[in-house]
Amino acid sequence: MKVYFVGAGPGDKELITIKGFNILKRAEYCIYAGSLINKELLSVLPSTARKYDSSKMNLENMVEVFKEAKAENKDLVRLHSGDPSIYGAIQEQMHALNKLQISYEIIPGVSSFVAAAAALNQELTLPGVTQTIVITRMEGNTPIPEKEHLSKLALSTPTLCIFLSIEKISEIVEILLPHYGKDCPIAVVYKASWPEQMIIRSRLSDIENIVKNEAITKTAMIIVGHVLDKEFDRSILYSKNVC
Ligand code: SAH
Repeated sequence: MKVYFVGAGPGDKELITIKGFNILKRAEYCIYAGSLINKELLSVLPSTARKYDSSKMNLENMVEVFKEAKAENKDLVRLHSGDPSIYGAIQEQMHALNKLQISYEIIPGVSSFVAAAAALNQELTLPGVTQTIVITRMEGNTPIPEKEHLSKLALSTPTLCIFLSIEKISEIVEILLPHYGKDCPIAVVYKASWPEQMIIRSRLSDIENIVKNEAITKTAMIIVGHVLDKEFDRSILYSKNVC
């Protein structure tokens, strides 16, 4: 018996890995992130599989299901949105599994920040612009260490991918303006890879009004940085001197 943490991808059901898909096909237990994953993926499970929506559970409830699957010697898929390692709260689940002496494996997934970059037809690391991507979020219930405050991360003007924070767009703009400038491009991708995907491209000075007008309040990726402008140097990788 084993627990598989599987990345379901950003939404489009074809963006799960083949490995994750094959495990899903034979899992008799599944705990899925109900608010974010594509529910069509659940139809891949055997018809006898027991399904639990993690948005209605706490860690202790999940541990009960882990124990039940162990008692029945059946594999369990813990289906996470995007990639399980990013804001997935998997470490505490693995800690609980260690205590229960249940083995586990992580199957990575397509994170929403790369799905958003794909929707934008955008490389996030452009020569001559930036070679660094910072994945971060604004403080919510989870505190942010002081040294990781957005104003500090902004000092080197990397490409920023900001999760879980669309409702704080005005605060984000205020913090970033002195570092990136009012003309710095910013994109908001709502529900990347879903049929209802929406892309907003704007400048730091204007984004807040657009987001408010579109009434986007969740499931959005904010990407900020000068890579979104079209000026850049050619890559070294594919230059004539290297090939
Ligand atoms: N592990 C996930 C992130 C979970 S946190 C991953 O790797 O993508 C949830 C946040 O992810 C949301 O608030 C939103 O910021 C982002 N997100 C998840 N799915 C998204 C999607 N399809 N489009 C845009 N943002 C998404």
